[in-house]
Amino acid sequence: MSVPRLAIDNLTVTYASARGPLTALRDLNFEVGDGEFVAVLGPSGCGKSTLLNIASGLLAPSKGRVAIRGEAVTAPRRDVGIVFQQPTLLPWKTVLQNVLVPMQAMGQPLAAHEARARELIRLVRLEGFENHYPYELSGGMQQRVGIARGFMHDPQLLLMDEPFAALDAMTREHMTDELQAMWMQSGKSVLFITHSIPEAVYLADRVVVLSARPGTVVDVIDVPIERPRRIETLGSPEFNAICNRLRAFFRAPPAGEEKKP
Ligand code: ADP
Ligand code: MG
Repeated sequence: MSVPRLAIDNLTVTYASARGPLTALRDLNFEVGDGEFVAVLGPSGCGKSTLLNIASGLLAPSKGRVAIRGEAVTAPRRDVGIVFQQPTLLPWKTVLQNVLVPMQAMGQPLAAHEARARELIRLVRLEGFENHYPYELSGGMQQRVGIARGFMHDPQLLLMDEPFAALDAMTREHMTDELQAMWMQSGKSVLFITHSIPEAVYLADRVVVLSARPGTVVDVIDVPIERPRRIETLGSPEFNAICNRLRAFFRAPPAGEEKKP
């Protein structure tokens, strides 16, 4: 058996909060294979961003481990691209300079990579804003700069935390299809975090369903819908059947059947 691109093994994360210990994730297990697109779906506050911070090496697990190609993740890695839930741009750099940040971090000559940075800026529909500063952009535009930056160094594994949540509906559709196209061409592995059921089903090969906090895997659902998925996919019976199956996980129990705390 081949070593998975990303493996999450018995991961538990407990924060020391002012109100005492708070367990965000408990005994999480799943894998992302080579070239696979995996969505992690869960309600707000269930630990999705915590998972991304752990997988990117910015936060250490309390228990268990995260491994990339069999190596435990202990610090950020160059072969991983990260798109955060918040764009986290450098305010003193222009759009073009922000997109080039990963190359700068690797000590690469920026001029050699400028053409690719401009191409990514075009792909996220920010052509003409190359020399603008973050404060001159809307939240959705800033988020798209963050997406271009995540792709800049052509990482084999992409970690994306609700990257399209702040975008308007039309831009979101465009970005979703661009991501699918880039993924299909490149053979990258993607871990895509979302709280949107249709977005997860449209993009993913598999959907990992997390419970409310402490987040743990309640099911993993395959999405055997042919690619490329298109706007018509959204209306297909198989697409809707999978969405409905996922909705059942998050539906509130009928009155009188709530679980005791
Ligand atoms: P999600 O991204 O699914 O909305 P998060 O991973 O951001 O969830 O948060 C999961 C839980 O952990 C929440 O209850 C949140 O308040 C808590 N949390 C997140 N970061 C911290 C932190 N640095 N310290 C203490 N609690 C935190
Ligand atoms: Mg989050």
